[in-house]
Amino acid sequence: MNNNIISLVIPVYNEEDNIPELLRRLFSVMEKLKRPYEIILVNDGSKDSSLPLMLKEQKLHHNTLRVIDFNGNFGQHTAIMAGFKHSKGDYVITLDADLQNPPEEIPNLISLLDNGHDVVGTIRQKRKDSFFRRYASKFINKLMNKVTGFNLHDYGCMLRGYNRTIIDIINECGEVSTFIPALAQKFAVNPVEIEVSHSSRDKGSSKYSLFRLIRLQFDLMTAFSLFPLQMITITGAFIFVIGIVLALLGIFDSALSFVLSGITVTCMGITGEYTGRIYQEVRKRPRYVIRKIYGNKNENEEEKLN
Ligand code: UDP
Ligand code: MG
Repeated sequence: MNNNIISLVIPVYNEEDNIPELLRRLFSVMEKLKRPYEIILVNDGSKDSSLPLMLKEQKLHHNTLRVIDFNGNFGQHTAIMAGFKHSKGDYVITLDADLQNPPEEIPNLISLLDNGHDVVGTIRQKRKDSFFRRYASKFINKLMNKVTGFNLHDYGCMLRGYNRTIIDIINECGEVSTFIPALAQKFAVNPVEIEVSHSSRDKGSSKYSLFRLIRLQFDLMTAFSLFPLQMITITGAFIFVIGIVLALLGIFDSALSFVLSGITVTCMGITGEYTGRIYQEVRKRPRYVIRKIYGNKNENEEEKLN
């Protein structure tokens, strides 16, 4: 029997209604596996009673459960990065705290890691999200594959498995804005994708407004390609040629100025996205600040990490 240690990393932001049920199902799944494991919950600045609930559970399961408490909200992917840094498993599995990723799927991911896959990606079957989210995701997945050169079918599903080799490489990456499934894919040698079931969010609400979703897609795009910047150059050259042709033909139309200024402003925006991100990176601020880690040897130590 394979005795590799399994770490589960779960970001938590205002999930008080989901914590007890999540942990009950996780423990039930993990105990049945009869393998060494740890569960790392990263509290991403929850303002509800998520933290006290997690700490209550941590006291009951002090051998298997650890809680990393951030001193503010740093975002889902950053929370997962912190979990990776503190994980000790040979395999690391990530999932959401809201039970949209059924814990019962975890053994399937583990058996693929046992088979030697270093990244186990997932595709949500019969996705239980709004019509808008599902169709926007379809479009985003296609666009991202074009832009990044990867071939992933569901960038957004965070129920995924990674071998320690991949986690160690990801831990070396110091970028502020990142997108973990794409980062892992970049370093994967033997990745696989499987279908997993998906549940609706029964308790609490999605933490992603339309604006936050757009920002997340920009993180993904700017972190993994220069394609949008290259498109700007090509578009610019193309517009220039059209301008010359129109001028030669003597056709000037006011509609044209709207189109052109529209393109110009969009291009400036995209360039700005990169510039803004470069600015964030060069400031070298800590990516997150940990107030305290519960269930660790150095439990009372305040920690600040980059
Ligand atoms: N999350 C987080 N920090 C955030 C936003 C979300 O840790 O700033 C967590 C959240 O608690 C959940 C997971 O990330 O465990 C996915 O969030 P959510 O369910 O809101 O996203 P959706 O399913 O709508 O994409
Ligand atoms: Mg969700």
